[in-house]
Amino acid sequence: MAKQPRVAQAEQDPKVRATNFEEVSLGYTIEQAMLEASRCINCKNPRCVVQCPVSVKIPEFISLVKAGDIAAAAKVIAEDSSLPSVCGRVCPQEEQCEGACILGIKGESVAVGILERFVGDWARKNNVNTVSAMPSNGNKVAVVGSGPAGLACATDLAKLGYEVTIFEALHKPGGVLQYGIPEFRLPKDEVVAAEIANLTKLGVKIECDVVVGRTVTIQDLMDKEGYKAVFIGSGAGLPKFMNIGGENLNGVVSANEFLTRANLMHAYDDSYDTPIYTGSKVVVVGGGNVAMDAVRTAQRLGAESHIVYRRGEAELPARKEEIHHAKQEGIQFDMLTNPVEILGSSEGWVEAIRCVKMELGEPDASGRRSPQVVKGSEFDIECSLVIMALGTSPNPLIVSTTDNLESNKWGCIVADDSGATSRSGVFAGGDAVTGAATVILAMGAGRSAAAAIDTYIKNL
Ligand SMILES: Cc1cc2nc3c(=O)[nH]c(=O)nc-3n(C[C@H](O)[C@H](O)[C@H](O)COP(=O)(O)OP(=O)(O)OC[C@H]3O[C@@H](n4cnc5c(N)ncnc54)[C@H](O)[C@@H]3O)c2cc1C
Ligand code: SF4
Repeated sequence: MAKQPRVAQAEQDPKVRATNFEEVSLGYTIEQAMLEASRCINCKNPRCVVQCPVSVKIPEFISLVKAGDIAAAAKVIAEDSSLPSVCGRVCPQEEQCEGACILGIKGESVAVGILERFVGDWARKNNVNTVSAMPSNGNKVAVVGSGPAGLACATDLAKLGYEVTIFEALHKPGGVLQYGIPEFRLPKDEVVAAEIANLTKLGVKIECDVVVGRTVTIQDLMDKEGYKAVFIGSGAGLPKFMNIGGENLNGVVSANEFLTRANLMHAYDDSYDTPIYTGSKVVVVGGGNVAMDAVRTAQRLGAESHIVYRRGEAELPARKEEIHHAKQEGIQFDMLTNPVEILGSSEGWVEAIRCVKMELGEPDASGRRSPQVVKGSEFDIECSLVIMALGTSPNPLIVSTTDNLESNKWGCIVADDSGATSRSGVFAGGDAVTGAATVILAMGAGRSAAAAIDTYIKNL
């Protein structure tokens, strides 16, 4: 019998989706999910689980999908992950579970991510209650930041009976899930808000518009407000720039600002009055997921949109799927190209970006071939907006307002594997500790810290 090939999920037509903000990938039907689940051979020593940073019981949930018991599959996933619809959509599965799947050695791996998304979406639409909390143990814990690290930490603590309050600086919870990753990859109301609502059903309180370090300090939370421990999951939201001439011109923005306007503040939606500028041609500098999100957003807002990246296509750090989708949508990739200056008009607006061509030399310490300038290769790309997507680092506010909280030279909070910091009772995890990483690594760190906080409070 011929082997069942991996079941493809439907996608919006590239030409249509390049003009709207609706979701690109459309997920599985139940029939497709059951068929794809039937490909999993239920390994005794599942390599997929070892590579999952939160150890979701993958073969177990997939065999329940195969049997058509989706509610039970949702409960199995919920033991380890509170954000299945999010993770199914945005995790780099090709490097984790699917990258390790035994079927991938000689053929195509099981579509673990699309199956996880299917289960999460089905459970939400069918009101399946997947988690319950223990009775309150009377201990209060504060969580700073409502990104995946804070949400995962809060979920595990609430399940153990802690009274958890999340303090979030922005007016909506979710961290990057809310302000960074665009609607066309991760729907905000339908998916992000709904998965966060499960947390509030566990009794977790979320206080938005509270900037810890300004509105209240960590010291105050512990000394005056009775929190026994604090988890810092404040992310890495401070954008980096190139420090080249012309970066102060009007029409140079960070990807974070551009995406926050579009996502959190709905600038793409005519019923909101948030301003967002693209002009006719946008250059996004960078090659990671953030660059892909920014360039695809700019294209949807009607501008001719380019990626400018100093290495080659093989070195692009973004997920392959995102690069593929961007190309389908008409994004132009200017590879081996590095900006040296941004040129502006006499009124102070961007007119062009001056670049040099690069070639790849010997591999550097990271194993990647380091780019070198091709002499005399300077040229200008006319453009109306330059978006810098060069990475981010943690905002220094919390470290600078908390005594004895150690950080490293990159501004990341120093924490051990359990999340314990240099300050007793204060734990940290996610991008605030590692620098910009992934949703699932942040969730893993949040979960480890929750276990460590439980042990810490029990030993007080
Ligand atoms: C545009 C973009 C696309 C990405 N795409 C992917 C992807 O496809 N797949 C993937 O796995 N990862 C992706 N990532 C990375 C991923 O989103 C992050 O690694 C992850 O969100 C980190 O989680 P976190 O909880 O540590 O921090 P965050 O998600 O950054 O959340 C931190 C929260 O803390 C709040 N905060 C900060 N300071 C304070 C303070 N002083 N007081 C109160 N609150 C505060 C912030 O407002 C924020 O809400 C992407 C990142 C970006 C920016
Ligand atoms: S490694 Fe692949 S085939 Fe084996 S249990 Fe995991 S998903 Fe199924």
